[in-house]
This record gives sequence, C-alpha cells and structure tokens, in this order.
Amino acid sequence: MQESLFEDNSSAKESPTSFRDLSDLCEQSKNCTKCRLAETRNNFVFGEGNPEAEIVVIGEAPGAEEDAQGRPFVGRSGKLLDKILESIGFSRKDVFICNIIKCRPPENRNPDTDEIESCMPWLKTQLQLLKPKILLLLGRVAANTVLDNRQSMGPLRGKIHRWNGYDVIVTYHPAALLRNPNWKRHCWEDVKMLRSHYEKLQGNRSHQR
Ligand code: URA
Repeated sequence: MQESLFEDNSSAKESPTSFRDLSDLCEQSKNCTKCRLAETRNNFVFGEGNPEAEIVVIGEAPGAEEDAQGRPFVGRSGKLLDKILESIGFSRKDVFICNIIKCRPPENRNPDTDEIESCMPWLKTQLQLLKPKILLLLGRVAANTVLDNRQSMGPLRGKIHRWNGYDVIVTYHPAALLRNPNWKRHCWEDVKMLRSHYEKLQGNRSHQR
C-alpha cells in the first residue's frame, strides 16, 4: 500500500526538484489543505533539526503542545525523546525530527488512513531532500506505515530493515514508554544498535576516503 502512497500524483511527490531545499518545502507545505486536519490544526508541524542529518527520527503525529508551538516532540514525549538521544550521545541538533503526519488529529486520535495517504508525500519529499542514511521510527504507526506491514513491535524491533535506500530501525514511541516504563530497556537496546550502526557507517565512509 505505502509504495503507492509515494507514487501518487499530489503536489509534494512531484520531485525534490520542485523544491529548492528543505526550507522551501517547509514554506510551501505549511498551508497544506490536503486533508480535513487542516480545519482543526493550529500549526502544520513540518519538523526540525539538522538539514545535514544522517539520522531522521519519525514519530506519529503532533500532539497538543506540538500543534500549539508548530514544533515536533516538545511535550512530555519530546522531553523523553531528548533523553533517549542524549543516552547515545546525540542531541536534537544532530538529527532531524518529524512525524508521519504533520497536523494534529483532534483529541490525539490515531491518524486515519486517508490522512496518512495525503500526508506521506510530504515526508517522502523531506527524505529526498535530507538524504539521511538511517531512519529511527518511533512506535507502531510510524513503523507499519513506512514498512507497509501490520506487525507488532516484537518482530519490528531488534533488526535493521531496508526501505527505499534507507536503513530503518524501529523502537517504542516515547508516549508508550511513559505508559510502560518496563519497555525502556528495550528502547535502550534499540538506540544502542542505532548508535553502533551509525558509527559503522561513519567508519566505512572514512575508509572509502
Ligand atoms: N508524538 C508524536 O508522535 N509526535 C510528536 O511530535 C509529539 C508527540
């Protein structure tokens, strides 16, 4: 299903050549009205971070705080995400952080399929412009959407998936960790794998120079 999401004819997919760079894409996407969430959002939450980042962190959808500020992961989940990144020696400035969908679903309900379909071309174009090496997918909605499956977290975690030229690692969404602190040790294993994979890629590159 998701491959076809990325092949549709909506404006964002046309190609990165339609957009000069990430800030041009941000400017051109912020008044998006491709789905009903445009009517209830306060802000289109494009994402933020290092435009040269090799790692893109992808959550599900903005919550209330993110919708109010127009920035991703700035509420309670965001504070925990900051700690998770710190635990492996990264800060928000080292990565780019965004979401599967860019506008808050009312009452933080799960995004509907048609909302995801409308929004995915923005994410795909972001990734084409960012050209990261690794995607870190937070939670099942992000993982099932990008990897186009319905698997639960168990089989999704603990391995490096390959999708569209990116290496993909899945871990728990910080909101799930706030509800179930026992899962934090699994998340720690996942992000350690992320760090060592990142270092391996860096090492390979320095050998190629
Ligand atoms: N949860 C998400 O998935 N994304 C955010 O930006 C905030 C909370």
